[in-house]
Amino acid sequence: MTTENLRGFDSLAVHAGQDFDPTTGAVIPPVHFSTTYAQDGIGGLREGYEYGRSGNPTRTALQTQLAAIEGGRHALSFASGLAAEDVLLRAVLQPGDEVLLGNDVYGGTYRLIARVLAPWGVKLRVVDMSDAGAVAAALDERAPRIVWVETPSNPLLRITDIAELARVSHEAGALVVVDNTFASPALQRPLSLGADVVVHSTTKYLGGHSDVVGGALVLDDDALAEKAGFLQFAAGAISGPLDAWLTTRGIKTLGVRMQRHSENGQAVADYLEAHPNVARVYYPGLASHPGHEIAARQMSGFGGIVSLALENAAAARRFAESTTLFTLAESLGGVESLLNYPDAMTHASVRGTELAVPEEVVRLSVGIESIDDLIADLDSALRTV
Ligand SMILES: *Cc1c(COP(=O)(O)O)cnc(C)c1O
Repeated sequence: MTTENLRGFDSLAVHAGQDFDPTTGAVIPPVHFSTTYAQDGIGGLREGYEYGRSGNPTRTALQTQLAAIEGGRHALSFASGLAAEDVLLRAVLQPGDEVLLGNDVYGGTYRLIARVLAPWGVKLRVVDMSDAGAVAAALDERAPRIVWVETPSNPLLRITDIAELARVSHEAGALVVVDNTFASPALQRPLSLGADVVVHSTTKYLGGHSDVVGGALVLDDDALAEKAGFLQFAAGAISGPLDAWLTTRGIKTLGVRMQRHSENGQAVADYLEAHPNVARVYYPGLASHPGHEIAARQMSGFGGIVSLALENAAAARRFAESTTLFTLAESLGGVESLLNYPDAMTHASVRGTELAVPEEVVRLSVGIESIDDLIADLDSALRTV
């Protein structure tokens, strides 16, 4: 099976890196648990495999698949999204370099830079990436080494024009990193819009079943890929074979899942927007959402994350504790619907900082269940507020 002629996203998701086993014909490539590889004479490596940290065929299969679906030359997979971010940041930054970060990026990204890398001399500035004027002013003031954006962002689904951000950031000499976890490559391909590096928490939509933690980098630049690959090997935050295999299996259905997540997300957002007990709905598929037009241009669907503001914090907490089909839990992107109260859960670590989330906001990760059941659950929970 050659994937050279395959162009369609879903074909690549199913087949890239997934050649059948040449020995047995097993259609699904086996999971390679071996930590070490027999050598045909000293240094005689078959296919370059030597030791499990430096390379593993199951990880290679996942990396090939990741590069294909993001449309990048290189992909590296890691033990978690933050492990991937850590490697990228250390591959790019020197002491004294600065990162310009979106003001609503994943809290753990902020924490990694502010609390782990800052003591090593990395500087951090925060800006609203959806505000082109603010970004221009920040770039004018001082050129950062990295511009880091999440779009749609978490949990307010702010939208940034990736092509425009890449243009102004490149003029300033900065590297543009897009955390594409929320959209997934099924809906948005940042490299094709001018970004330099795509970061993923594959724990979310790529894995898609809330049963494996992982992360990835996808990029075109050969030299940077080599540096990051060296850190993957030298620092060792690799994905294990079973984790890599589970992620690969999830990715095969990413296209169809994102389609259903988007349909359900839109239906939930429409329902909430019309509900008298809901103060505000955040969803890029709503015409009322700031950035809706940019999202419609750079995404091929609006995804499954919907946030809503209730009247106040007490109402938000009551609502959050009243659903039954939406499980109250952190994380997102699985086939099952989840509900998160950011202020006290996912975003507790950024409370009181410039990344704090309004305390009346609740975030929904809308799953692929039957839409009538999802709406009925929300409907009964909204009666309690
Ligand atoms: C979860 C998440 C991360 C961190 O990934 P882990 O796999 O939990 O380490 C980074 N970015 C976004 C947008 C996320 O949702």
